Amino acid sequence: MIDERNDGWSFATARVAARFGACEVRGAPGVEHAGGGRGTLCGIAARCLTCRLHLFEPDALQSCRRCRRAAKDAPTEPCVQERLHGRVRAAAGGRIREELLAALRGGAPVRLWINGPSADLAGFHARLDELTEGAGPAAEAFAAAAAIGMAVVEDDRWRFLVVLPGSGDGGPPVLARGLRDP
Ligand SMILES: [Zn+2]
Repeated sequence: MIDERNDGWSFATARVAARFGACEVRGAPGVEHAGGGRGTLCGIAARCLTCRLHLFEPDALQSCRRCRRAAKDAPTEPCVQERLHGRVRAAAGGRIREELLAALRGGAPVRLWINGPSADLAGFHARLDELTEGAGPAAEAFAAAAAIGMAVVEDDRWRFLVVLPGSGDGGPPVLARGLRDP
């Protein structure tokens, strides 16, 4: 079932602005720069910086003007649906996968995408008892690792659960779903 609610929505139109962490030059407080891989976007080396726990806001008064321009010129990044679509493609083929991929291509909201202790995610967020397809393998995936990732996608009819075992060799995502209004 392809979601037709979001007419004109696509991965291409839904790309999002690149985001950067905010940092300050040590000894020069009050001006925030956009942190990239090796330093700021305006060219200050990482060893001179103190990082902040929030994102760089290009429009904020305290933001460095060169970083502001560079941040606004930075290439956009895939939206959350496109990023999750890339992960779900690695899951075993089948009806759930095809319908979930179609839902993501149609812009179905990703309600949750978190990492944490498997027992907590299974106990508080996964709602395993509401799943009608794939519940067994999903529960096994949670039981197989101490920490894990999971995402929840909702379309008109379904609540999809994506269990994401580790980023390395944890294996492909495990998919399950239940009706939104059981
Ligand atoms: Zn700067």
